[in-house]
Amino acid sequence: MTKTITLAQGNGGVENAELISNIFYRHFKNPLLEKSEDAAIIDSGRLAFTTDSFTVSPLFFAGGDIGKLSICGTCNDLAMMGAKPTYMTCAVMVEEGFSIEALNTIVTSMAKELAINGATIVCGDTKVVPRGAVDKIFINTTGIGVVQKGGISSNSVSDKDTIILSNDIGRHGATIFAAREGMEFESDLSSDCTSLWPLVEKLLAEGIGITAMRDATRGGVAAVLNEWAKQSNICIEVEEASLPVSDTVRGICEILGFEATNLANEGTFVLAVKSHDAPRAVEILRTFDAGQNAAIIAKVTHQYAGKVVLLSPWGSKRFMELPSGELLPRIC
Ligand code: MG
Repeated sequence: MTKTITLAQGNGGVENAELISNIFYRHFKNPLLEKSEDAAIIDSGRLAFTTDSFTVSPLFFAGGDIGKLSICGTCNDLAMMGAKPTYMTCAVMVEEGFSIEALNTIVTSMAKELAINGATIVCGDTKVVPRGAVDKIFINTTGIGVVQKGGISSNSVSDKDTIILSNDIGRHGATIFAAREGMEFESDLSSDCTSLWPLVEKLLAEGIGITAMRDATRGGVAAVLNEWAKQSNICIEVEEASLPVSDTVRGICEILGFEATNLANEGTFVLAVKSHDAPRAVEILRTFDAGQNAAIIAKVTHQYAGKVVLLSPWGSKRFMELPSGELLPRIC
């Protein structure tokens, strides 16, 4: 490892995983942490518990702002464990000179998103630091969820499952990148930032056999699939042509040399469901605005255990690797 922290160590990919395992997992070692799920399942399986910090730049972007993101991000990690978000905390680190009006707008966004999840902020903390000690505002939220269906785990994916994407990919990453670079698009490029609990609630109510779910945030779909392949010791074979990508995101990727599968999402998730339930799960997802482009993207095999294989429309095969390098700091 490097002697000092690098931006790549926050990328949600190879270097990030290395930092977490060499420093945090080493010192905090315990069986709950080592499950590496989106949220820890505690209290004999009754509760899900998770935390996330938000440093996105710019604070306001097409499709959301840091406030909306700070509730979606944490509530989505609870939803991914089959848990209904309930109680939350909110900690704010804000810089001297920050606009009260902007703070009010951000907290208004948080309140609106809390209502969608049926969650409430029940404690919090506010720190004001001298100008320059943080860049504008950072927010941390922690959430507790009540598990509605137990046993959902990224360590349990098997060849009885089919892999689904809940919507088209890469919009959050592409939006933040475009905003930062001052790129103007005539099209309607906006972040997919959204709360996923309503979608998960419906899938559970319809009795879909869900094995695992994970929101494809930093590191994108490529990170989620690689984590699952490793954790469950399986091979995930992805049909490249089945990956839902909008024309705008595809265009940005072509111009800048990005892979859409490495770009961050904030309202799009990967599901492993029992294969016989997969078509019905896609149908249910498509009844939501946030699931319009849901699609089956992959099957699970044992061909190369621990690996993700991308199958091109022309019959060639290559590995889809865990992203590495400085992808896009302060994406969330
Ligand atoms: Mg997550």
